[in-house]
Amino acid sequence: MAMIKTTEEIQALREGGVLLSRALQAAVDAVKPGVTMRELDDIATHVIEEAGGTPSFKGYKGGSKIPFPSTVCISVNEEVVHGVGSRGVVLNEGDIVGLDIGCWYKKMCTDMAVTVPVGKISKECTDLLIATRASMMAGVEAALVGGDVRDISAAVEGAVNQKKYGIVKSLVGHGVGHAVHESPHVPNYTGGGFPKVPLKSGMCLAIEPMLTLGTDDVMTGKDGWTIVTTDGSLAAHFEVTIAVLPEGPEILTPLPNIGL
Ligand code: MG
Repeated sequence: MAMIKTTEEIQALREGGVLLSRALQAAVDAVKPGVTMRELDDIATHVIEEAGGTPSFKGYKGGSKIPFPSTVCISVNEEVVHGVGSRGVVLNEGDIVGLDIGCWYKKMCTDMAVTVPVGKISKECTDLLIATRASMMAGVEAALVGGDVRDISAAVEGAVNQKKYGIVKSLVGHGVGHAVHESPHVPNYTGGGFPKVPLKSGMCLAIEPMLTLGTDDVMTGKDGWTIVTTDGSLAAHFEVTIAVLPEGPEILTPLPNIGL
């Protein structure tokens, strides 16, 4: 898979990104106490399919034996990512819920996520969401032609107050476009021994920090998919798909309004 996308491919990603963002916004707008994960998943699925897109996570295997069952990865509280969105789990006032979504459109694949409040949340949770989004944006701004993927990692890490937050290290961002996950890895920290990968015009990357209120250590739940913090601490995840371009990084998946 080519790391560099053509102008036409980036245009398809741009259109797919707008559709994906619209689907995610519809799900975000439906988040409230009492809603089930399955209802949110159905809303997002409908938006994507009605516009001629295809959810990219549903049926995806990755490293798991079980194909992923839903359009949206829905992860609540101590669940970090990859929560199964077709569960009948009811969201409660004060929860934080991560919604991660991907779709195929014109043969190109985009990927994005937000974590949002369910009703009124604590100040600690609000700060966690804002800090996670800010670290993602710092990473986006560092995605400059002539730089290196490690610049993105350093920018994300540098934006995080590590006395307050854990940075999940065993899950990383990635190239995207021709497949759900492509090279290169885009870690949210430095010092992991990742290779130097020059940033070139036309590279499309998913930048996706995951922060926690405690440990940076995670494990896979019994369902074979849901990733949770090992200490039960709350976690947040934000993600955008970007194109690295001569005029600067372009966010291909516009950030939804989450009220924060
Ligand atoms: Mg991703």
